[in-house]
This record gives sequence, C-alpha cells and structure tokens, in this order.
Amino acid sequence: MIKKVEHIGIAVKDLKNSNALFAKLFGKEHYKIEAVESEGVSTSFFMLGETKIELVQATTENSAITKFIEKKGEGIHHIAYEVDDIYKEIERLKKEGFEMINAEPKEGADNKLICFLHPKSTNGVLVELCQERK
Ligand code: ZN
Repeated sequence: MIKKVEHIGIAVKDLKNSNALFAKLFGKEHYKIEAVESEGVSTSFFMLGETKIELVQATTENSAITKFIEKKGEGIHHIAYEVDDIYKEIERLKKEGFEMINAEPKEGADNKLICFLHPKSTNGVLVELCQERK
C-alpha cells in the first residue's frame, strides 16, 4: 500500500549552493548530507512536517542526474511514495502494467530500500517507491 509522499527529489547542479538557497526558502537548514555511491549522487535532506525535500547532485558523469540536468536542467526529478512492503508493491504495480526501472529494490539514501517506475508508464513523472529498512 502506498502510504504518503515521503519526499520530493530535486536535481541540482551544486549541492552546496542549493543547500544555502533552500535553507533561505524554508527558514531552516538541511539535516543531513549523504552520498549514494551506487547511484553516483550526493544528496541532502530538509524536513518539512511529514514530508522531506531531497536535493540530488551528480557526482559522476554517468549518473542519471547528470543526464537529467543535461536534458532538462535543474528541477523536480522524482516523487517518492512510502510503502509498507516494497516487494509486494512492485508485484502489484507490475500486474497493473507499470514498468519498473529496477526490478529488485536497491539501497537508497536515508536508510531506505528504493525502486523507480519508468516515467513513460506514469505520465512523465519519475516515481520512487521507498520503504524504511527494518
Ligand atoms: Zn529520492
């Protein structure tokens, strides 16, 4: 079951500059920075009530974020929904005809198991499913 919007991911060119910018916007600082080496990204998180904002900067040329920014520029990159059982949810969504980018959940930032749905099956929105690792 999809429970809520867990976070919104925003692709940025320079995490340091963007952390300062969003700290001004929100009136509070990010609460953590985390590198996800498997994805070639560095991330920072802001807590806004129940929802987080994740800033994502590429750290390698092959990162999906590098390609995204080349094509579309900085901006909203994905919406992440919290699920209680990511394996069940992947099975359910596959049956409904959604296309997964990765068939098996992988380790994401923030102690989560994550999985992405291909935007061509979701009206152009890159959807992330995430589940707290137990
Ligand atoms: Zn995310």
